[in-house]
Amino acid sequence: MTEAERRAALEAIAAEVRVCTRCRLHEGRTRAVPGEGHPSTEVIFVGEGPGMNEDREGRPFVGRAGDLLVRLLASIGWRRDDVFITNVVKCRPPENRDPAPDEIAACEPFLRRQLEVLDPALVVTLGRHSMARFMPGTTISRSHGLVRPVDPATGARDALVFAMYHPAAALRTPAVEEASYADVGRVPAALDDARARRAGAAPATPPPVDVARETAAERGLPGPRPELPPITNPEPAPPPSDQLTLFR
Ligand code: URA
Repeated sequence: MTEAERRAALEAIAAEVRVCTRCRLHEGRTRAVPGEGHPSTEVIFVGEGPGMNEDREGRPFVGRAGDLLVRLLASIGWRRDDVFITNVVKCRPPENRDPAPDEIAACEPFLRRQLEVLDPALVVTLGRHSMARFMPGTTISRSHGLVRPVDPATGARDALVFAMYHPAAALRTPAVEEASYADVGRVPAALDDARARRAGAAPATPPPVDVARETAAERGLPGPRPELPPITNPEPAPPPSDQLTLFR
């Protein structure tokens, strides 16, 4: 797919999202929030659902959590326009409550189609609802900062997922903010790993679970960080020819 085709396909999905009535969340929305970003990016960030500011503007992560996300990206030299940013649900849950399972299910085809169009090498999840979609069966305190292969049924055909805390959680708790800066610092290596894996050079092997981390996690504290699996390909793998070579 060319960049123009990707852009058009993403806009077609966004147009459907803006008039969607598939679940009760449409009743309370001001504007739906389809997502935005570079159509040829290699990296998609997936949050939970729009908050008050996002509902007003129709754009993802534009409030305080968004400001922190921008700072986290800046800490690794990335800008929000270089990536694609979206959410598991595209309309604001009332009072910023967690999205309900049936709301997530109703919105699932939109995220799946966005992933099919973008074909990202790396999916970065922000918070536990997003993580549950791409890295099921674990907890955010155990798995933040870790990388796993993505189930192609999600729409991401050949991608790795990297889990991060939600920026709103980082705003509430200094230890989570500190962990988030440490985690985002590992994202470029995860992208290199994803590129290498796509080139057939380095299958992502889940690192062993560190029991000491689980104990820390139970106390609500970020535990010691295991390293990402080593990148065995000495040369970063080239992206597919129709995608931008970002972040080198
Ligand atoms: N929190 C989210 O999960 N998504 C947004 O777009 C904003 C805040």
